[in-house]
Formats: sequence, structure tokens, C-alpha cells
Amino acid sequence: MHVSAASVLVVLAVASAAGAQEVRPYAGKYAGDPETARLMARLPALMKESARAMGERLGLADADASNVVLELVDLPLGPRKDIQLGGTATRQVDGHSVQWITLNPESHFSGNGDLDVEVAHEMTHALLRNALGDAAHRALPKWAREGLAVWSAGQGPGRIAYWLGLFWEKPDPVAALLNGLDNATHAISDYPEDYLAIAFIESAHGIEGVHQFVKRLAAGKPATEAVAEVTGQPWAEFEKDARTFSEARLREALGDAESAAWRRSMATYRAGKDYEAAQRALFAVAARFPDSWAGALALYYFGRALQLGGNFADARDALVVFAGSTGSRTGLMDDAIWNIALCEEKLGRTGAAVETCDRLARDFSFSPQAPMALLKAAGICDASGRADEAKARYERIVKDLAGTKEAEEAKKKLER
Ligand SMILES: [Zn+2]
Repeated sequence: MHVSAASVLVVLAVASAAGAQEVRPYAGKYAGDPETARLMARLPALMKESARAMGERLGLADADASNVVLELVDLPLGPRKDIQLGGTATRQVDGHSVQWITLNPESHFSGNGDLDVEVAHEMTHALLRNALGDAAHRALPKWAREGLAVWSAGQGPGRIAYWLGLFWEKPDPVAALLNGLDNATHAISDYPEDYLAIAFIESAHGIEGVHQFVKRLAAGKPATEAVAEVTGQPWAEFEKDARTFSEARLREALGDAESAAWRRSMATYRAGKDYEAAQRALFAVAARFPDSWAGALALYYFGRALQLGGNFADARDALVVFAGSTGSRTGLMDDAIWNIALCEEKLGRTGAAVETCDRLARDFSFSPQAPMALLKAAGICDASGRADEAKARYERIVKDLAGTKEAEEAKKKLER
């Protein structure tokens, strides 16, 4: 049976009544999608539950949410190319103030966002607008607005992970995310910092501390004064301590991200099934965490994954970079040089292969790979028609490495 989008909307449009929450009809690009009908059907209950839960979380149990309207609107990509997820604005409708929530259904249909959480975020804005009133809300700094909304909706850890991900390439992602609570231009990259300031109040004074902060805002106090009353700290001191707290949280999250990425990439490498996937994952870790232990090891295993995947030229280059940069920190230098030699051999560059073997035996004479390297060099000379050089090398191995299995092997070669 074909159900037209229009008939679905007629059924679902909730009649607008004074003092009742309302979900506006939607006629956008997903209107014909059966999922839209399901979504529209559960939005009224979702709004109601969200208003209750966010009111409780903010310590505004009696908060008025009767004038909240929710509308799904397809929002195009903004000039910054971020998808706009939504917003809340106060509108005058028939002489009444209405808190008008606009949500982009893209977050639901793209599968990346969580519409329930977006509703919770915007509902927090709506409740705060009602509780503070126009003038006090206008005066409320953005960090407090967004900090409370992100904190209340439970988006904090997710926002932190998201922005650390985007800022990974920066020299210091943590410092980049903490540019001051009251900075002049407020952007969505400020959300983690805003959230962490509220999380700091909660951490030091419990959820009751956040409730007291909101109560003072609702009583018309400026944010700096409300902070000082709740925390007992003057604003400048609070800002400093919130920053210390936020730095620690962000460093923790960055460490988690690093070890998780490292574990994932090594699991792919060790599985040995998809070396291209391992290469991508290991390269990402090496690029994101160049100064860390994991980043250094990832560069080595990136080279090894290229080698195991049969890409000997790129493998050699990666291992040469590793040996020349972070290799000395890892204890894998001899392995790296050994594998560079194997790559050179595979590439038919016998001169370079022999030189690399000699370098390994010379610079890492105590490595278990040193005797192997000398034998390998002799074998390469042998196989490439340099019989005299091969003979001289075998003789030296028999003499210098007496008692080793490499010496036994060399003796056999000489007896042929
Ligand atoms: Zn917001």
C-alpha cells in the first residue's frame, strides 16, 4: 500500500493548543521515508520525557516546558561545512513566548548522530530560556549556555573524543581546545571546554553545586557572580582551576584514544589477513602520535605491514625513516635494519642489501641478527655471481663466529 507523505503528515501533525508542547509537521526531503513516520510518532513523548529528565538534571524540577515547539528542518551545510544539528530560539507566537527548537533530521538519518541526545541538548536551552527569562538569558555567556546543555544532555565525553579526533594533527590538541572560557568568538570547538567547566563544578561541589549555579542564574545573577557564590572562588581563580581540571581530563582522553588506536591497529596487523588495513591503521597512529612510544612502534609496524603486503620499496622507505628518527627509542633498530636488508634483496638491489647487512653486523654486533646478517650478505654475494667475495665472507664467518650455527652453515658452503 502506498501512503503519501502528505497523508502521514496530516495524521501526525499535533494540533497546536495554547500551553501545550507541539511537534510541527515536517515536509522536508525525508518526508516520504517510512522511518520519518516512526520518528514523528515518537517525538511528542520524547519531548515530554526530555523536558522532565533535563529539568531534573538541571535542578529545575518545576521548569516550564509547555511552550516548547519542535520542528524538523533540513539545514544545509553551513559556511564552515559543519552540519548544523539544530538550535533553539525564542519566538513570539500570538503574543506568547515560544521556545522553538529546530532540529536537523540529518543527524537521525545519516546514522552518525543521536536525535534523542540532540533533543535533550535543545530542551536544556529551552528550559534555561524559560527559567532565566529573555534579559538574563541574553546576558548569559555562551560557555555557560553550551556548557550546561552539553553537560545536561550527557554529550561531554563524546564531544571531547570528537574534537580531540579533529585536533589530533595539531602540535598540542589539548591546548588548542582550551582557549579560554570567555574568548571573544565562540565556536562549536569550544563545547568541550564549556562542558568541562560545568563538569569541574560538579566534580568539586557535586550535582548540587550545578543546581545552585543554575538557581542563581535563574535569579538573575551574572554567571561570574553565580560561579563565585557556588564555588567560593573569585572568577579568575575558578577559571584557572577549571583549566587545570580540563587539561587533566583531556590528556586522559587523549591517552585513551592513543592506546585504543594502537591496540586496534596491532590487532589488525597480528591477524595477518588484511595488511592494507593494518598499514592504514598503523600509519594513522604514527601520524597522530609522532612523539609517543605507540607512534614510534606504529611506524616500525607500518613498514613491516608494507613488507608483509609485498610492497618492498615503500616498506624499505618507511623502515629507513623509522631507523633515522624514532627507532632508537624502541629497541627495534636491529630488526628494522635487518628488514631493510631483506627489502633491498627483494628489490634486486644486491649492493644495498649487502651494505645494510654489514651495517647491522657492525653497529649492532650483539644483536642476534648480526650473525644472520653476515651469512645473508655472503649468500647474496654468492647468488649474484660475486664468488670471490662470497668465499672471503664465508671464511671470515667460520673464523669469527666459530661455534655458531652460522659458522656451521658457512663451512658447508665452503665445502661444496
Ligand atoms: Zn547548544
